[in-house]
Amino acid sequence: MITPRVADHVRALPTAALPAYVYDLTALDEHAHAVREALPPAVELYYAAKANPDPAILRALAPHVTGYEVSSGGELAHVHAAVPGRPLAFGGPGKTEAELRLALGLGVERFHVESEHELRLLAALADEHPRRAPVGVLLRVNLPVADGGLGGAALAMGGRPSPFGLDPRRAEACPPLTRGGPLRLLGVHAHLASGLDAAAQLAVAAGVTSWAREFGDRHGLGPMEINVGGGMAVDYAGPHTRFDWSAYGQGLGELAARHPGVTLRIEPGRSMTAYAGWYVTDVLDVKHSHGEAFAVLRGGTHHMRTPAAKGHDHPFTVLPVEEWPRPWPRPAARNEPVTLTGQLCTPKDTLATGIPVTEVRAGDRIAFAMAGAYAWNISHHDFLMHPAPTFHYVSRPGRRTV
Ligand SMILES: *Cc1c(COP(=O)(O)O)cnc(C)c1O
Repeated sequence: MITPRVADHVRALPTAALPAYVYDLTALDEHAHAVREALPPAVELYYAAKANPDPAILRALAPHVTGYEVSSGGELAHVHAAVPGRPLAFGGPGKTEAELRLALGLGVERFHVESEHELRLLAALADEHPRRAPVGVLLRVNLPVADGGLGGAALAMGGRPSPFGLDPRRAEACPPLTRGGPLRLLGVHAHLASGLDAAAQLAVAAGVTSWAREFGDRHGLGPMEINVGGGMAVDYAGPHTRFDWSAYGQGLGELAARHPGVTLRIEPGRSMTAYAGWYVTDVLDVKHSHGEAFAVLRGGTHHMRTPAAKGHDHPFTVLPVEEWPRPWPRPAARNEPVTLTGQLCTPKDTLATGIPVTEVRAGDRIAFAMAGAYAWNISHHDFLMHPAPTFHYVSRPGRRTV
């Protein structure tokens, strides 16, 4: 699971550098290349920056993606600076006037508009704005998903009451609002769920595409851009089970063939970067409490909230450290289930519960895998005022680094 490059790097880190995030940029490059290769050439691949906006990651993805999806003015400015000149799509509910002005000023290519009010506001701001090209708009629509289509989805954003996107009935009122103004209605966007396997993703993509085509025909929209969203599954309980990009790519190819003239676009986040990051730290203490073993780690969920946020046991590897500098016995747990916790004074600071281990001792190092997405950037960094982790980027020697 852990790449030898990362394991070597972690073993060589001084304790003062822990906890640390280690990103394997070569692994990321190879994975993104494989994803791109699995997709039909005409399908556009945007990276959803909120999964991990680390500039080195944004740059490592640049050769493989068409553009980036950003969901706030902060992400917009950040991504624009990290990968200048790359196409951006600006989404997210509750865009402020200042954010829309910023996006207009930076020449953002696509706006994912989430309501009639937002559409009117964007049109009004675009009217005032001295821009050369019309402002491209995709309507984000909260479409119902066919029964079973979202089976197993971890986070459903669509197909039920939600603040995301337009109710499909309200979407019908939107095309007339764009006629004759500064906006150009280019198509439809739908990001309906996270955690879908390839078959479920294809069912969603087919449903979104047929709805969008009918919508386009009803309103005389011409060639459509259809963004079918992200949410490709990442299985924390099965780190070796990967989203089937080749089945998905083949299915998207068949879908595109049934809809000539349509531009299909996807915007995955987690599935692009999750596997390229590790959160590594050391064991401060091991103790037994009422019959159960606990390893208390340096750091915790204020650095990697992922397992607390998603309610899973985060996959990890124990990297044994043989030196023990103290004259007293080394705290240890052997051949028993261990719960890995952090330094926060809350029982929620748990990274993995009751996981059988051969041995874990104070001073050993722990590398949590699948920490490249929704990890550092979703965590409550300031809670309890522990120091921040350090950040490291490893790549194959001789490979282009970013
Ligand atoms: C979060 C998000 C994504 C990416 O979702 P993943 O589950 O990380 O693939 C894509 N599009 C929108 C609109 C999002 O909010």
